[in-house]
Amino acid sequence: MVDRLARAPSSGLTSDRARERMVQGLRALGIRHETVLAAMGAVPRHLFVDQGLASRAYEDVALPIGQGQTISKPSTVARMIEMLVRDRDPKSLPTAKVLEVGTGCGYQAAVLAHVFGEAVSVERLRWLHEAARTNIRPMRMPNLRLTFGDGRQGVEVAAPYDAIIVAAAGEDIPDPLLMQMKVGGTLVAPVASADGTGQALHRVERPGRDEWTLTVLDAVRFVPLRRGTS
Ligand code: SAH
Repeated sequence: MVDRLARAPSSGLTSDRARERMVQGLRALGIRHETVLAAMGAVPRHLFVDQGLASRAYEDVALPIGQGQTISKPSTVARMIEMLVRDRDPKSLPTAKVLEVGTGCGYQAAVLAHVFGEAVSVERLRWLHEAARTNIRPMRMPNLRLTFGDGRQGVEVAAPYDAIIVAAAGEDIPDPLLMQMKVGGTLVAPVASADGTGQALHRVERPGRDEWTLTVLDAVRFVPLRRGTS
């Protein structure tokens, strides 16, 4: 905890102000959902990046977190979470459960734990899973569970989920994730085109047990969804 505080780039007050400005920027970009905006305003993003990058933590940019992985930019995190919750009765959120594939440093997982009653996140790289644990521990989030494994398999033990968010681009949406959606649930995931030229955000809904509907949304850029663990 002392180490954490020593790493912070500025006083708590300065980072509070920077975060408030970030939230104003998100509003200007069209993010409207108050629960999402409140969560973005609550999570200290500067504690999820290296000290050398902490002064840029509240800019709307993706930042490197090591070994070619990145922390997604705030507007992407907010927009994707808003897609998961905008058609949902806000009163249902405290009892809703979300799965994130691709914990990375844990930032988005922490935001999700502010929005949903229960959050589960899975990461395939052991060192990042451990780093996320270290980042989250002092924040005391009993409703967030970080797991290690190949998220292409989902996290069966905690399924089904009201919402699933994938933070890395695969060539498809893996079947286990579609099966682990609740009926009435929503999934958002970046999907790479077969020729590898681009990625688009996909939103899937499951209106019935054997029924899934797909909407293809804007072009995006995410790190690849890989197989297995390491
Ligand atoms: N959610 C993070 C973004 C991390 S980048 C944030 O808050 O910014 C995407 C992450 O997905 C990387 O850490 C990468 O290792 C992980 N990843 C890629 N393929 C995966 C898989 N099959 N299962 C779980 N995690 C995966």
